[in-house]
Amino acid sequence: MKIKNFANHALLAAKITVLRDRRTASPLFARTLHEISVILCALVAADMENTVKQVSTPLVRTRGSATRNPVVLIPILRAGLGMLEGFRTLLPEAATGHVGVERDHDTLKPKFYYYKTPSLKNADVWVLDPMLATGGSLDFALTKLKQGKPRTLRAISVIAAPEGVRLIEKAHPDVRLYTAVIDEKLNNKGYILPGLGDAGDRYFNT
Ligand code: URA
Repeated sequence: MKIKNFANHALLAAKITVLRDRRTASPLFARTLHEISVILCALVAADMENTVKQVSTPLVRTRGSATRNPVVLIPILRAGLGMLEGFRTLLPEAATGHVGVERDHDTLKPKFYYYKTPSLKNADVWVLDPMLATGGSLDFALTKLKQGKPRTLRAISVIAAPEGVRLIEKAHPDVRLYTAVIDEKLNNKGYILPGLGDAGDRYFNT
């Protein structure tokens, strides 16, 4: 699947500019990332599947709908936590798992420093990470999450680099990718340009 981006969304674009601004302090950064996450959740949820559900209004019985499959939210630690409450605002019944990926000092390969999820079997799994940079951690996490046999996997970011998008599209053509915007490129330290700096540091004021 080709990545879906929402670069033409006026309100998202304005809020991402607030995130990008180096003068935006942590409390406003956190609130704005939360607001962006609520908007993104609504946009991604437009692709959910529904079943028919009959409902009685005070006047008549009519055909309504209910969402069909349980959603499991997986924030990638730590910056993904900044998106979690925004998604839980619209999907309060969703179960949440947590995944932390780091680079092993000796082998330089990614490894999990935390991996705990509820059952993913037949669930619609939504992986949250505001910055899709090289895509290495996301690739690693998606590969492991697939072992839980979810029905569908979605990866959702706020800012993506073309390099990361290419990697995920190639390695995981079955994963539905969503991002608010796609930026220009990575720098030689793996930061997204123009980007917003380190999302985790800015969210957690570290
Ligand atoms: N992670 C971030 O927080 N920022 C980047 O630019 C890249 C990865």
